[in-house]
Amino acid sequence: MSRELEQTQRNLKSSEEESHHRLLELEVLYRTASVGLGFLDHELRYVRLNEALAAINGLPVEAHIGRHASEINPELAQIFVPMMEQVLASKQPLLNVEITSAPPCERTWMVNFHPVSNARTFGVSVVFQDITVLKETEDISTRFGRIVRSSDDAIISITLDGAITSWNPAAEGMFGYPAQEVMGKAVSLLATSRNANELPDILGRLQAQQLAEGLPQGERVESVCRRKDGHYIDVLLTVSPIYDRHGRLIGASEIVRDITQQKRAQAALLRTNEELRQFAFAAAHDLQEPLRNIGLHAQILDSQHKQNTEADEQVESIIESARRMQTLIRDLLEYTEAVDIHGAQGESIDCNEVCQTALGNLAFALSDCAAEVSVAPLPTVVAEHAHFIQLFQNLIGNALKYRAKARHPQIHVSAEQRDGYWVFSVKDNGIGISPEYHDRIFGVFKRLHGRDVPGTGIGLAICKRIVDHHGGRLWLESEVGGGSTFYFSLPDC
Ligand code: ADP
Repeated sequence: MSRELEQTQRNLKSSEEESHHRLLELEVLYRTASVGLGFLDHELRYVRLNEALAAINGLPVEAHIGRHASEINPELAQIFVPMMEQVLASKQPLLNVEITSAPPCERTWMVNFHPVSNARTFGVSVVFQDITVLKETEDISTRFGRIVRSSDDAIISITLDGAITSWNPAAEGMFGYPAQEVMGKAVSLLATSRNANELPDILGRLQAQQLAEGLPQGERVESVCRRKDGHYIDVLLTVSPIYDRHGRLIGASEIVRDITQQKRAQAALLRTNEELRQFAFAAAHDLQEPLRNIGLHAQILDSQHKQNTEADEQVESIIESARRMQTLIRDLLEYTEAVDIHGAQGESIDCNEVCQTALGNLAFALSDCAAEVSVAPLPTVVAEHAHFIQLFQNLIGNALKYRAKARHPQIHVSAEQRDGYWVFSVKDNGIGISPEYHDRIFGVFKRLHGRDVPGTGIGLAICKRIVDHHGGRLWLESEVGGGSTFYFSLPDC
Protein backbone atom coordinates (compact mmCIF):
# COMPACT_ATOMS: atom_id res chain seq x y z
CA MET A 1 0.00 0.00 0.00
CA SER A 2 1.34 3.38 -0.86
CA ARG A 3 2.15 5.76 2.01
CA GLU A 4 -0.51 8.21 0.81
CA LEU A 5 -3.17 5.51 0.98
CA GLU A 6 -2.10 4.58 4.51
CA GLN A 7 -2.22 8.18 5.55
CA THR A 8 -5.72 8.61 4.04
CA GLN A 9 -6.96 5.53 5.85
CA ARG A 10 -5.55 6.82 9.16
CA ASN A 11 -7.25 10.18 8.59
CA LEU A 12 -10.54 8.47 7.74
CA LYS A 13 -10.40 6.33 10.89
CA SER A 14 -9.65 9.26 13.14
CA SER A 15 -12.46 11.37 11.67
CA GLU A 16 -14.77 8.34 12.06
CA GLU A 17 -13.78 8.14 15.74
CA GLU A 18 -14.23 11.90 16.06
CA SER A 19 -17.74 11.63 14.55
CA HIS A 20 -18.54 8.75 16.85
CA HIS A 21 -17.50 10.82 19.90
CA ARG A 22 -19.54 13.81 18.72
CA LEU A 23 -22.55 11.56 18.23
CA LEU A 24 -22.17 10.13 21.75
CA GLU A 25 -21.90 13.63 23.21
CA LEU A 26 -24.98 14.75 21.29
CA GLU A 27 -26.84 11.65 22.44
CA VAL A 28 -26.07 12.44 26.12
CA LEU A 29 -27.09 16.06 25.64
CA TYR A 30 -30.27 14.96 23.90
CA ARG A 31 -31.24 12.47 26.58
CA THR A 32 -30.47 14.64 29.58
CA ALA A 33 -31.70 18.00 28.24
CA SER A 34 -34.31 19.66 30.45
CA VAL A 35 -36.16 20.86 27.36
CA GLY A 36 -38.44 18.35 25.60
CA LEU A 37 -36.97 17.29 22.24
CA GLY A 38 -38.60 15.02 19.66
CA PHE A 39 -38.79 14.09 16.02
CA LEU A 40 -42.00 12.97 14.27
CA ASP A 41 -42.23 11.60 10.73
CA HIS A 42 -44.29 13.07 7.90
CA GLU A 43 -47.38 11.18 9.21
CA LEU A 44 -46.77 12.71 12.67
CA ARG A 45 -45.74 9.43 14.29
CA TYR A 46 -43.08 9.63 16.97
CA VAL A 47 -39.66 8.55 15.73
CA ARG A 48 -37.43 9.78 18.54
CA LEU A 49 -37.91 11.78 21.72
CA ASN A 50 -36.07 12.42 24.94
CA GLU A 51 -37.09 11.82 28.57
CA ALA A 52 -38.13 15.43 29.10
CA LEU A 53 -40.70 15.32 26.25
CA ALA A 54 -41.92 11.89 27.42
CA ALA A 55 -42.43 13.38 30.90
CA ILE A 56 -44.47 16.27 29.45
CA ASN A 57 -46.73 13.72 27.74
CA GLY A 58 -46.87 11.60 30.89
CA LEU A 59 -45.74 8.33 29.20
CA PRO A 60 -42.42 6.43 28.95
CA VAL A 61 -40.26 7.07 25.88
CA GLU A 62 -40.93 3.58 24.39
CA ALA A 63 -44.71 4.06 24.59
CA HIS A 64 -44.40 6.86 22.04
CA ILE A 65 -42.39 5.25 19.27
CA GLY A 66 -44.42 4.62 16.10
CA ARG A 67 -47.59 6.13 17.53
CA HIS A 68 -49.41 9.10 16.10
CA ALA A 69 -49.16 12.37 18.09
CA SER A 70 -52.89 12.52 18.64
CA GLU A 71 -52.83 9.14 20.44
CA ILE A 72 -50.37 10.51 22.99
CA ASN A 73 -51.61 13.17 25.39
CA PRO A 74 -54.71 14.03 23.26
CA GLU A 75 -55.28 17.28 25.14
CA LEU A 76 -51.88 18.72 24.15
CA ALA A 77 -51.91 17.07 20.74
CA GLN A 78 -55.18 18.82 19.93
CA ILE A 79 -53.24 22.09 20.11
CA PHE A 80 -49.96 21.22 18.44
CA VAL A 81 -50.93 18.64 15.78
CA PRO A 82 -52.47 21.36 13.53
CA MET A 83 -49.28 23.39 14.01
CA MET A 84 -47.08 20.49 12.94
CA GLU A 85 -49.34 19.89 9.92
CA GLN A 86 -48.83 23.53 8.97
CA VAL A 87 -45.04 23.14 9.29
CA LEU A 88 -45.06 20.03 7.10
CA ALA A 89 -47.23 21.70 4.49
CA SER A 90 -45.37 25.02 4.40
CA LYS A 91 -41.88 23.58 5.10
CA GLN A 92 -41.45 26.73 7.22
CA PRO A 93 -40.56 26.67 10.94
CA LEU A 94 -43.07 27.82 13.52
CA LEU A 95 -41.25 29.50 16.38
CA ASN A 96 -41.91 30.68 19.94
CA VAL A 97 -45.45 29.34 20.20
CA GLU A 98 -46.86 29.44 23.76
CA ILE A 99 -48.86 26.36 24.68
CA THR A 100 -50.67 26.08 28.01
CA SER A 101 -52.12 22.84 29.33
CA ALA A 102 -55.54 22.84 30.99
CA PRO A 103 -55.97 23.07 34.78
CA PRO A 104 -55.56 21.61 37.36
CA CYS A 105 -51.83 21.21 36.64
CA GLU A 106 -51.63 24.18 34.33
CA ARG A 107 -48.20 24.53 32.69
CA THR A 108 -46.93 26.74 29.92
CA TRP A 109 -44.32 25.85 27.29
CA MET A 110 -42.55 27.83 24.64
CA VAL A 111 -42.52 25.48 21.59
CA ASN A 112 -40.50 25.60 18.36
CA PHE A 113 -41.38 23.42 15.32
CA HIS A 114 -38.86 22.92 12.49
CA PRO A 115 -39.42 21.04 9.24
CA VAL A 116 -36.75 18.35 8.79
CA SER A 117 -36.14 17.11 5.32
CA ASN A 118 -33.09 15.31 3.98
CA ALA A 119 -32.38 12.43 1.71
CA ARG A 120 -33.67 9.85 4.17
CA THR A 121 -36.27 11.56 6.33
CA PHE A 122 -39.04 14.05 6.13
CA GLY A 123 -40.86 15.16 9.26
CA VAL A 124 -40.92 17.72 11.99
CA SER A 125 -38.80 18.35 15.07
CA VAL A 126 -40.29 19.80 18.24
CA VAL A 127 -38.62 21.64 21.14
CA PHE A 128 -40.69 22.16 24.31
CA GLN A 129 -39.31 24.59 26.88
CA ASP A 130 -41.19 24.86 30.21
CA ILE A 131 -41.75 28.57 30.97
CA THR A 132 -44.41 28.15 33.69
CA VAL A 133 -42.34 29.81 36.45
CA LEU A 134 -41.31 32.59 34.10
CA LYS A 135 -44.96 33.22 33.17
CA GLU A 136 -46.03 33.21 36.82
CA THR A 137 -43.31 35.74 37.68
CA GLU A 138 -44.39 37.78 34.67
CA ASP A 139 -48.04 37.62 35.84
CA ILE A 140 -47.09 38.70 39.35
CA SER A 141 -45.03 41.59 38.06
CA THR A 142 -47.87 42.56 35.66
CA ARG A 143 -50.35 42.55 38.54
CA PHE A 144 -47.90 44.41 40.75
CA GLY A 145 -47.26 46.89 37.94
CA ARG A 146 -51.01 47.52 37.67
CA ILE A 147 -51.25 48.20 41.41
CA VAL A 148 -48.30 50.59 41.24
CA ARG A 149 -49.79 52.36 38.19
CA SER A 150 -53.22 52.77 39.77
CA SER A 151 -51.99 53.79 43.24
CA ASP A 152 -52.95 57.21 44.61
CA ASP A 153 -49.60 57.34 46.40
CA ALA A 154 -46.49 58.24 44.48
CA ILE A 155 -44.28 55.13 44.23
CA ILE A 156 -40.70 55.75 43.25
CA SER A 157 -37.69 53.51 43.26
CA ILE A 158 -34.16 54.76 43.56
CA THR A 159 -30.64 53.37 43.56
CA LEU A 160 -28.44 53.62 46.64
CA ASP A 161 -26.98 56.80 45.08
CA GLY A 162 -30.46 58.29 44.93
CA ALA A 163 -30.95 58.01 41.14
CA ILE A 164 -34.62 57.53 40.16
CA THR A 165 -35.28 54.18 38.47
CA SER A 166 -39.10 54.10 38.45
CA TRP A 167 -41.82 56.72 38.71
CA ASN A 168 -45.54 55.89 38.69
CA PRO A 169 -48.39 58.07 37.31
CA ALA A 170 -49.32 59.24 40.83
CA ALA A 171 -45.76 60.59 41.18
CA GLU A 172 -46.29 62.51 37.94
CA GLY A 173 -49.50 64.03 39.33
CA MET A 174 -48.07 64.73 42.78
CA PHE A 175 -44.78 66.32 41.73
CA GLY A 176 -45.62 67.57 38.22
CA TYR A 177 -42.67 65.83 36.50
CA PRO A 178 -43.41 63.33 33.68
CA ALA A 179 -41.52 60.03 34.09
CA GLN A 180 -39.16 60.61 31.13
CA GLU A 181 -38.01 63.88 32.68
CA VAL A 182 -36.87 62.36 35.96
CA MET A 183 -35.69 58.82 35.15
CA GLY A 184 -32.01 58.54 36.09
CA LYS A 185 -32.02 61.95 37.75
CA ALA A 186 -31.21 62.45 41.43
CA VAL A 187 -34.26 62.19 43.68
CA SER A 188 -32.89 65.20 45.55
CA LEU A 189 -34.73 67.34 42.99
CA LEU A 190 -37.79 66.82 45.23
CA ALA A 191 -35.99 67.87 48.40
CA THR A 192 -36.10 71.31 49.95
CA SER A 193 -33.02 73.17 51.10
CA ARG A 194 -33.92 72.22 54.70
CA ASN A 195 -34.31 68.49 54.24
CA ALA A 196 -31.73 67.88 51.50
CA ASN A 197 -29.91 65.33 53.67
CA GLU A 198 -32.98 63.45 54.86
CA LEU A 199 -33.13 60.77 52.15
CA PRO A 200 -29.34 60.30 51.77
CA ASP A 201 -29.28 59.82 55.58
CA ILE A 202 -32.04 57.18 55.42
CA LEU A 203 -30.22 55.36 52.59
CA GLY A 204 -27.02 55.52 54.63
CA ARG A 205 -28.83 54.00 57.63
CA LEU A 206 -30.28 51.20 55.46
CA GLN A 207 -26.78 50.33 54.26
CA ALA A 208 -25.35 50.52 57.77
CA GLN A 209 -28.18 48.30 59.09
CA GLN A 210 -27.53 45.73 56.39
CA LEU A 211 -23.88 45.61 57.29
CA ALA A 212 -24.68 45.28 60.99
CA GLU A 213 -27.79 43.08 61.10
CA GLY A 214 -28.39 41.94 57.55
CA LEU A 215 -32.04 43.01 57.30
CA PRO A 216 -32.78 46.73 57.15
CA GLN A 217 -36.34 47.58 58.12
CA GLY A 218 -37.03 50.78 56.23
CA GLU A 219 -38.29 54.02 57.73
CA ARG A 220 -41.39 56.19 57.80
CA VAL A 221 -41.09 59.95 58.24
CA GLU A 222 -43.19 63.04 57.76
CA SER A 223 -41.43 65.40 55.40
CA VAL A 224 -41.83 68.19 52.87
CA CYS A 225 -41.23 67.88 49.11
CA ARG A 226 -40.91 70.46 46.40
CA ARG A 227 -43.04 70.16 43.24
CA LYS A 228 -41.85 71.08 39.76
CA ASP A 229 -43.89 74.30 39.97
CA GLY A 230 -41.96 75.29 43.11
CA HIS A 231 -44.84 74.62 45.52
CA TYR A 232 -44.21 72.63 48.68
CA ILE A 233 -46.29 69.67 49.80
CA ASP A 234 -46.41 67.84 53.12
CA VAL A 235 -45.79 64.14 52.69
CA LEU A 236 -45.64 60.92 54.62
CA LEU A 237 -42.60 59.07 53.29
CA THR A 238 -42.18 55.30 53.61
CA VAL A 239 -38.74 54.15 52.50
CA SER A 240 -38.21 50.39 52.14
CA PRO A 241 -35.11 48.48 51.03
CA ILE A 242 -34.92 46.77 47.62
CA TYR A 243 -32.74 43.67 47.27
CA ASP A 244 -31.39 41.85 44.23
CA ARG A 245 -31.72 38.07 43.69
CA HIS A 246 -28.77 37.42 45.97
CA GLY A 247 -30.24 39.42 48.86
CA ARG A 248 -27.92 42.37 48.31
CA LEU A 249 -29.32 45.82 49.06
CA ILE A 250 -29.44 47.66 45.73
CA GLY A 251 -31.80 50.54 46.33
CA ALA A 252 -34.99 51.66 47.98
CA SER A 253 -38.62 52.21 47.18
CA GLU A 254 -40.31 55.36 48.33
CA ILE A 255 -44.06 55.47 48.88
CA VAL A 256 -45.05 59.09 49.16
CA ARG A 257 -48.48 60.11 50.49
CA ASP A 258 -49.60 63.70 50.10
CA ILE A 259 -50.78 64.79 53.58
CA THR A 260 -50.91 68.52 52.86
CA GLN A 261 -54.69 68.78 53.44
CA GLN A 262 -54.48 66.66 56.59
CA LYS A 263 -51.64 68.81 57.97
CA ARG A 264 -53.56 72.01 57.21
CA ALA A 265 -56.69 70.68 58.93
CA GLN A 266 -54.55 69.62 61.92
CA ALA A 267 -52.90 73.02 62.11
CA ALA A 268 -56.30 74.76 61.87
CA LEU A 269 -57.62 72.56 64.69
CA LEU A 270 -54.61 73.31 66.87
CA ARG A 271 -55.04 77.02 66.18
CA THR A 272 -58.75 76.89 67.07
CA ASN A 273 -57.98 74.94 70.24
CA GLU A 274 -55.31 77.41 71.21
CA GLU A 275 -57.64 80.33 70.54
CA LEU A 276 -60.38 78.69 72.62
CA ARG A 277 -57.95 77.98 75.42
CA GLN A 278 -56.73 81.57 75.41
CA PHE A 279 -60.32 82.80 75.28
CA ALA A 280 -61.38 80.66 78.26
CA PHE A 281 -58.29 81.65 80.21
CA ALA A 282 -58.69 85.37 79.46
CA ALA A 283 -62.43 85.29 80.16
CA ALA A 284 -61.85 83.59 83.49
CA HIS A 285 -59.05 86.00 84.44
CA ASP A 286 -60.82 89.12 83.23
CA LEU A 287 -64.05 88.17 85.02
CA GLN A 288 -62.26 88.05 88.36
CA GLU A 289 -61.49 91.74 88.43
CA PRO A 290 -65.07 93.17 88.16
CA LEU A 291 -66.20 90.41 90.48
CA ARG A 292 -63.74 91.42 93.15
CA ASN A 293 -65.09 94.98 92.80
CA ILE A 294 -68.69 93.81 93.20
CA GLY A 295 -67.74 91.90 96.34
CA LEU A 296 -65.74 94.81 97.73
CA HIS A 297 -68.46 97.41 97.18
CA ALA A 298 -71.14 95.10 98.54
CA GLN A 299 -69.07 94.70 101.72
CA ILE A 300 -68.72 98.50 102.00
CA LEU A 301 -72.47 98.89 101.54
CA ASP A 302 -73.02 96.17 104.11
CA SER A 303 -70.91 97.91 106.72
CA GLN A 304 -72.56 101.30 106.03
CA HIS A 305 -76.20 100.13 106.26
CA LYS A 306 -76.17 97.80 109.24
CA GLN A 307 -79.61 98.85 110.52
CA ASN A 308 -81.60 98.15 107.34
CA THR A 309 -82.42 94.43 107.54
CA GLU A 310 -83.89 94.18 104.05
CA ALA A 311 -80.90 95.91 102.48
CA ASP A 312 -78.67 93.67 104.63
CA GLU A 313 -80.18 90.57 103.09
CA GLN A 314 -79.83 91.93 99.55
CA VAL A 315 -76.21 92.86 100.12
CA GLU A 316 -75.51 89.49 101.78
CA SER A 317 -76.96 87.78 98.72
CA ILE A 318 -74.77 89.89 96.40
CA ILE A 319 -71.69 88.95 98.44
CA GLU A 320 -72.63 85.27 98.37
CA SER A 321 -73.22 85.33 94.59
CA ALA A 322 -69.90 87.07 94.06
CA ARG A 323 -68.15 84.41 96.18
CA ARG A 324 -69.82 81.60 94.26
CA MET A 325 -68.96 83.18 90.93
CA GLN A 326 -65.36 83.45 92.10
CA THR A 327 -65.31 79.75 92.95
CA LEU A 328 -66.80 78.88 89.57
CA ILE A 329 -64.21 80.97 87.79
CA ARG A 330 -61.37 79.45 89.83
CA ASP A 331 -62.62 75.96 88.89
CA LEU A 332 -63.01 76.97 85.28
CA LEU A 333 -59.40 78.10 85.32
CA GLU A 334 -58.40 74.77 86.79
CA TYR A 335 -60.30 73.03 83.99
CA THR A 336 -58.61 75.10 81.26
CA GLU A 337 -55.28 74.17 82.81
CA ALA A 338 -56.23 70.50 82.66
CA VAL A 339 -57.27 71.08 79.03
CA ASP A 340 -53.91 72.63 78.30
CA ILE A 341 -52.06 69.36 78.25
CA HIS A 342 -50.98 69.14 74.60
CA GLY A 343 -47.39 69.85 75.50
CA ALA A 344 -47.37 67.64 78.60
CA GLN A 345 -44.77 64.89 78.24
CA GLY A 346 -45.73 61.43 79.45
CA GLU A 347 -43.22 59.79 81.76
CA SER A 348 -43.05 56.47 83.52
CA ILE A 349 -44.92 56.93 86.77
CA ASP A 350 -45.50 54.51 89.62
CA CYS A 351 -49.24 54.65 90.34
CA ASN A 352 -48.65 53.33 93.90
CA GLU A 353 -46.65 56.46 94.61
CA VAL A 354 -49.16 58.69 92.78
CA CYS A 355 -52.08 57.25 94.75
CA GLN A 356 -50.24 57.67 98.07
CA THR A 357 -49.55 61.34 97.23
CA ALA A 358 -53.26 61.86 96.47
CA LEU A 359 -54.19 60.15 99.77
CA GLY A 360 -51.65 62.35 101.58
CA ASN A 361 -53.32 65.46 100.14
CA LEU A 362 -56.67 64.16 101.41
CA ALA A 363 -55.32 63.04 104.82
CA PHE A 364 -57.36 65.52 106.83
CA ALA A 365 -60.69 64.69 105.14
CA LEU A 366 -59.93 60.97 105.40
CA SER A 367 -59.29 61.00 109.12
CA ASP A 368 -62.17 63.40 109.70
CA CYS A 369 -64.68 60.78 108.57
CA ALA A 370 -62.68 57.73 109.70
CA ALA A 371 -62.49 56.38 106.17
CA GLU A 372 -61.00 52.96 105.49
CA VAL A 373 -58.89 52.96 102.32
CA SER A 374 -57.30 49.89 100.76
CA VAL A 375 -55.02 50.06 97.74
CA ALA A 376 -54.11 46.95 95.75
CA PRO A 377 -50.70 46.91 93.98
CA LEU A 378 -50.89 49.38 91.09
CA PRO A 379 -48.83 49.35 87.88
CA THR A 380 -46.26 51.74 86.48
CA VAL A 381 -47.65 53.56 83.45
CA VAL A 382 -46.64 56.30 81.04
CA ALA A 383 -48.61 59.40 82.03
CA GLU A 384 -48.36 62.98 83.19
CA HIS A 385 -47.51 62.89 86.90
CA ALA A 386 -49.34 65.99 88.22
CA HIS A 387 -52.50 65.20 86.26
CA PHE A 388 -52.57 61.66 87.57
CA ILE A 389 -52.33 62.86 91.17
CA GLN A 390 -55.30 65.14 90.44
CA LEU A 391 -57.22 62.25 88.84
CA PHE A 392 -56.79 59.95 91.88
CA GLN A 393 -57.45 62.82 94.27
CA ASN A 394 -60.70 63.88 92.56
CA LEU A 395 -62.08 60.33 92.46
CA ILE A 396 -61.09 59.45 96.06
CA GLY A 397 -62.22 62.93 97.22
CA ASN A 398 -65.67 62.32 95.68
CA ALA A 399 -65.89 58.91 97.34
CA LEU A 400 -65.48 60.75 100.67
CA LYS A 401 -67.71 63.68 99.79
CA TYR A 402 -70.60 61.50 98.63
CA ARG A 403 -70.38 59.02 101.50
CA ALA A 404 -73.53 57.52 103.01
CA LYS A 405 -74.37 59.06 106.38
CA ALA A 406 -75.15 55.71 107.97
CA ARG A 407 -71.71 54.13 107.50
CA HIS A 408 -68.01 54.88 107.52
CA PRO A 409 -66.60 55.32 104.05
CA GLN A 410 -64.78 52.30 102.65
CA ILE A 411 -62.73 52.93 99.54
CA HIS A 412 -60.83 50.39 97.48
CA VAL A 413 -58.40 51.31 94.71
CA SER A 414 -57.17 48.63 92.30
CA ALA A 415 -56.09 47.96 88.70
CA GLU A 416 -56.19 45.01 86.32
CA GLN A 417 -55.07 44.30 82.75
CA ARG A 418 -57.80 43.88 80.13
CA ASP A 419 -57.33 43.64 76.34
CA GLY A 420 -54.21 45.77 76.10
CA TYR A 421 -55.37 48.31 78.69
CA TRP A 422 -54.84 48.86 82.39
CA VAL A 423 -58.27 49.35 83.95
CA PHE A 424 -58.13 51.22 87.30
CA SER A 425 -61.08 51.34 89.67
CA VAL A 426 -62.02 53.46 92.69
CA LYS A 427 -64.83 51.75 94.56
CA ASP A 428 -66.82 53.30 97.42
CA ASN A 429 -69.76 52.39 99.64
CA GLY A 430 -71.34 55.85 99.33
CA ILE A 431 -74.74 57.14 98.26
CA GLY A 432 -74.46 55.93 94.68
CA ILE A 433 -75.80 57.53 91.51
CA SER A 434 -78.91 56.64 89.55
CA PRO A 435 -77.93 55.21 86.08
CA GLU A 436 -79.81 58.00 84.24
CA TYR A 437 -77.13 60.49 85.43
CA HIS A 438 -74.11 58.35 84.60
CA ASP A 439 -73.24 60.30 81.44
CA ARG A 440 -74.28 63.72 82.63
CA ILE A 441 -71.99 64.00 85.63
CA PHE A 442 -68.87 64.18 83.41
CA GLY A 443 -69.96 67.52 81.87
CA VAL A 444 -68.51 70.89 82.99
CA PHE A 445 -70.43 72.28 86.04
CA LYS A 446 -72.83 69.30 85.97
CA ARG A 447 -73.69 68.15 89.48
CA LEU A 448 -76.52 66.36 91.19
CA HIS A 449 -76.36 68.28 94.46
CA GLY A 450 -77.37 71.69 95.71
CA ARG A 451 -75.38 74.16 97.77
CA ASP A 452 -75.58 71.88 100.83
CA VAL A 453 -72.69 69.84 99.37
CA PRO A 454 -69.69 72.00 98.42
CA GLY A 455 -68.48 71.79 94.82
CA THR A 456 -68.99 73.23 91.37
CA GLY A 457 -69.31 70.11 89.23
CA ILE A 458 -65.90 70.49 87.57
CA GLY A 459 -64.00 67.58 89.25
CA LEU A 460 -65.20 64.74 87.02
CA ALA A 461 -64.97 66.95 83.89
CA ILE A 462 -61.27 67.41 84.72
CA CYS A 463 -60.86 63.66 85.32
CA LYS A 464 -62.46 62.86 81.96
CA ARG A 465 -60.27 65.36 80.18
CA ILE A 466 -57.11 63.86 81.72
CA VAL A 467 -58.10 60.27 80.91
CA ASP A 468 -59.13 61.21 77.33
CA HIS A 469 -55.77 62.86 76.80
CA HIS A 470 -53.98 59.67 77.85
CA GLY A 471 -55.95 57.65 75.29
CA GLY A 472 -58.26 56.01 77.83
CA ARG A 473 -61.90 56.12 78.93
CA LEU A 474 -63.68 57.05 82.17
CA TRP A 475 -66.95 55.44 83.26
CA LEU A 476 -68.80 54.19 86.30
CA GLU A 477 -71.04 51.49 87.69
CA SER A 478 -73.42 52.63 90.38
CA GLU A 479 -76.91 52.38 91.84
CA VAL A 480 -78.55 54.72 94.31
CA GLY A 481 -77.66 53.48 97.80
CA GLY A 482 -75.33 50.79 96.44
CA GLY A 483 -72.03 52.68 96.30
CA SER A 484 -70.17 53.62 93.12
CA THR A 485 -67.18 52.27 91.23
CA PHE A 486 -65.42 54.72 88.91
CA TYR A 487 -63.23 53.06 86.27
CA PHE A 488 -60.63 54.54 83.98
CA SER A 489 -58.59 52.74 81.36
CA LEU A 490 -55.13 53.49 80.04
CA PRO A 491 -53.34 51.84 77.08
CA ASP A 492 -50.80 49.34 78.42
CA CYS A 493 -47.67 50.41 76.54
P1 ADP B 1 -68.72 68.18 92.37
O1 ADP B 1 -68.29 67.14 93.32
O2 ADP B 1 -68.02 69.45 92.52
O3 ADP B 1 -70.19 68.34 92.30
P2 ADP B 1 -67.87 66.38 90.26
O4 ADP B 1 -67.69 66.68 88.84
O5 ADP B 1 -66.71 65.83 90.99
O6 ADP B 1 -68.33 67.73 90.90
O7 ADP B 1 -69.07 65.39 90.40
C1 ADP B 1 -70.28 65.62 89.68
C2 ADP B 1 -71.44 64.99 90.39
O8 ADP B 1 -71.31 63.57 90.33
C3 ADP B 1 -71.47 65.31 91.84
O9 ADP B 1 -72.23 66.50 92.04
C4 ADP B 1 -72.16 64.11 92.45
O10 ADP B 1 -73.54 64.27 92.36
C5 ADP B 1 -71.79 62.98 91.53
N1 ADP B 1 -70.72 62.13 92.10
C6 ADP B 1 -69.42 62.20 91.82
N2 ADP B 1 -68.74 61.25 92.47
C7 ADP B 1 -69.62 60.55 93.20
C8 ADP B 1 -69.56 59.42 94.08
N3 ADP B 1 -68.40 58.79 94.34
N4 ADP B 1 -70.72 58.97 94.64
C9 ADP B 1 -71.87 59.57 94.36
N5 ADP B 1 -72.00 60.62 93.52
C10 ADP B 1 -70.91 61.12 92.95
